Amino acid sequence: MKVFINPGHAPNGNPDPGAVNDFYRVRECDIALSIGEMVKNYLIKAGCGVKLLQSNNLAGESAGENIVKSANDWGADVFVSIHCNAYDKSVRGAETLVYDKVGGSYTLGKYIHAQLIDTMQDIDGTFPNRGIKSRPALCVLRRTQMPAVLVETAFIDNDIDVLLLMNHQEEFAAAIARGVTDYWIDING
Ligand SMILES: [Zn+2]
Repeated sequence: MKVFINPGHAPNGNPDPGAVNDFYRVRECDIALSIGEMVKNYLIKAGCGVKLLQSNNLAGESAGENIVKSANDWGADVFVSIHCNAYDKSVRGAETLVYDKVGGSYTLGKYIHAQLIDTMQDIDGTFPNRGIKSRPALCVLRRTQMPAVLVETAFIDNDIDVLLLMNHQEEFAAAIARGVTDYWIDING
């Protein structure tokens, strides 16, 4: 299985770091990359081919490597984008975004989301399950030609979630990797 991993936003935060927690001085681009590298290592150990690419050129709209084109040209079987959420500092939890709540992307999303919620609720029983949501406007979900999900791991602007993102990246990564392999086992019977 060929897995394309896309940590959100721009490498080194230039020009786009994503969401930032000013108090802890952590940035979404760095956390997403760190978790993405760990997912990559887990999946390589599981026998997958893995390509990891972080770029703010999602589909040809700016300079740098084009995420959608790269995943499609490589012939990825599965596409996983990794992000951190942010809202008004009060909201917590994980959500998984798919183009539509039917088909292969939804199945992939279900497996990844279930592992993520199980794992994080083991660490923190109050970690909210925000569910699987359809986001047809997101170009990395709309224009990729393989089952694709965008994982919003937790809220980087929330005081509790940010500590999970800082201290439990291995667990986030292991959960995402297990979700991918659960999906692959399922569709291959
Ligand atoms: Zn993001």
